[in-house]
Amino acid sequence: MTSDGGGGGKRNRSGATPLPSLPHKGGGAPRLDLGEASHRRLNPLTGEWTVVSPHRMQRPWQGKREALAAAPSLAYDPGCYLCPGNLRASGARNPDYPHTFVFDNDFAALHLDAPSDRIEDGLLVAEGESGLCRVLCFSPRHDLTLAQMAVADVERVVDAWVEETINLGSREGVASVQVFENRGEIMGCSNPHPHGQIWATRHLPNELEKETRRQTEYLLERGRVMLIDYLEQELNRGERIVFSNAHFVVLVPFWAVWPFETMILPRRRIGGFDELRPAEKPALASALTELTQRYDRLFDVSFPYSMGFHQKPTGGAVHAEWQMHAHFYPPLLRSATVKKFMVGFEMLASPQRDLMPEAAAARLREAAG
Ligand SMILES: [Zn+2]
Ligand SMILES: [Zn+2]
Repeated sequence: MTSDGGGGGKRNRSGATPLPSLPHKGGGAPRLDLGEASHRRLNPLTGEWTVVSPHRMQRPWQGKREALAAAPSLAYDPGCYLCPGNLRASGARNPDYPHTFVFDNDFAALHLDAPSDRIEDGLLVAEGESGLCRVLCFSPRHDLTLAQMAVADVERVVDAWVEETINLGSREGVASVQVFENRGEIMGCSNPHPHGQIWATRHLPNELEKETRRQTEYLLERGRVMLIDYLEQELNRGERIVFSNAHFVVLVPFWAVWPFETMILPRRRIGGFDELRPAEKPALASALTELTQRYDRLFDVSFPYSMGFHQKPTGGAVHAEWQMHAHFYPPLLRSATVKKFMVGFEMLASPQRDLMPEAAAARLREAAG
């Protein structure tokens, strides 16, 4: 039995410059070359791992190619239930809104008056879940995406997220306000009119529960805020930073699952939308515009994604552990028509990626306008 105990001398098969090695426990030079060897990376926010396989990107693609939906060309569509002045299926008529417009989803998944009982019968456990589902039209224009809207108009979207977070968060029986957008038919979004959703729920949803627990543990153990420490490490290394402005940094997280996954992180500690200072709103709007424009340039297509903001639970507590942030999860892998599938090992075991997060960040840096 030979064991590879030799340490150094590892060559990078692709000829690319190896990534700087991470410091490792035990002293001496680490044998794990992240640019060369398969490995897994920890997401400290959730405690979950992603498998990274740097050598697999060269394999030929013979799989599914997605058909591209044509971009809408109409500024106003008389058949769209989100356009100003139009009638919705519920019978309500949209106002002639000049900027953003928020309303209760006509087919809401949750209602505020749902009973809150808990039923437990051995392993069969259920409890009432109540909440509110709101729809936010980003703009009266049917044909614009976040990437195409003026930064001042995207700032109005940020204002609406602030307002909804405060209003919904102050209601009885609401523990969390989740802001999100599904963009593109490939993500299951049937209406091209630019809009997002805001769901307020009585319980913390899974992702928020995990992130709250992990950030709390980190604060208790080290007396520091996890994502502030993380941002500092990333800014020092630089290899996964896409761009930044005075108040926000956009990066591909070390543990990214989706090919071009990114996060928007504030530079100072901000628990949620309600804590944003006036100067931070245009900076966030500008970061959103810049990021979505870079995505569109990457494969020369209106880039699909699911995005959303994670913020502290509502209810008035300080939540000193919490750092608000946005996640962008775009499904495209190597062109406008080749999508990453989360199947097989990824469904049953652990997410896996071939494109290095560092390479994805470099591509997004190059996609500057
Ligand atoms: Zn419309
Ligand atoms: Zn998060």
